[in-house]
Amino acid sequence: MRTLVMFHPDCLEHLPGPGHPESPERLHVVMRALWEPEFAGLAWREAPRGSREQLLLVHDADYVDTVAALAPLEGTAVLDGGDTVMSRGSLDAVMRCVGAACAGVDAVLAGEADNVFCATRPCGHHAEPDRAMGFCIFNQVAIAARHALHAHGLARVAVIDFDVHHGNGTQAAFHAEPRLFFGSSHQSPLYPGTGAASEHGGSNNIVNVPLPPGCGSQAFRNSVAMRLLPALRAFAPELILVSAGFDAHRLDPLAQMELDDEDFGWITREVMAIAADVCGGRIVSVLEGGYSGAGLAGGCAAHVRALMGR
Ligand SMILES: [Zn+2]
Repeated sequence: MRTLVMFHPDCLEHLPGPGHPESPERLHVVMRALWEPEFAGLAWREAPRGSREQLLLVHDADYVDTVAALAPLEGTAVLDGGDTVMSRGSLDAVMRCVGAACAGVDAVLAGEADNVFCATRPCGHHAEPDRAMGFCIFNQVAIAARHALHAHGLARVAVIDFDVHHGNGTQAAFHAEPRLFFGSSHQSPLYPGTGAASEHGGSNNIVNVPLPPGCGSQAFRNSVAMRLLPALRAFAPELILVSAGFDAHRLDPLAQMELDDEDFGWITREVMAIAADVCGGRIVSVLEGGYSGAGLAGGCAAHVRALMGR
């Protein structure tokens, strides 16, 4: 498999402040993991800057303008009750996140790579069309899905989200759009409180698999295999995007789902098997959460190893 990693150093310049879990160190951890000799076969590309037009595929113009106006020249500005803050470099960072995800879609649809991993931050899946939430400012995975419809004319695009938190923002962006599918496994109860199994979306295009704290590997794999993967296959997407959070890892300080490194490799290979059957293997994965250094490094390495076909 030819796997491309999208990255830009601007993503290190979003500085939410001392003690904030979504720190630049997260991206350093990912980069160190992917610089190991076993990943020498990865291709790397600098992420372009996303555009306002891409933001408007998902976000309200008023919200986009508000974020741009709030971006501080020094210190931090609060977007969401203290959870989501902007520093001087935040706008550049989030625009690289959006650009990376959209350029990743362009690359796999052009056949330049089999799959793509966007090593970018901050995460995006909690950001709703009109508001920031949970460390997320713009929703790059939802934007990339809309970009695939809008710029490439695809008819069906799916997002699989295995971050331990429910991707409420992606669900909100996809709610009434039958061309988009959202499937999520997540811990419940946990922030943000959405993602009940009864939430199916306005077009029966959403599948939520909530799992209890402490569920562990076997319950995770069984539930994903029985409820998420068959729905993904039935939707027959032309492109699969992944919200790849690694905070379901047993070492993560923010959740208790108790997964191991290899569970992230397992779900990646399962999604790849469906992608191989229905969409020529085309996958674009976007980094979401993961707040334990060792858990993020191990989970992300297992994920990218699988993307490389190992
Ligand atoms: Zn998360």
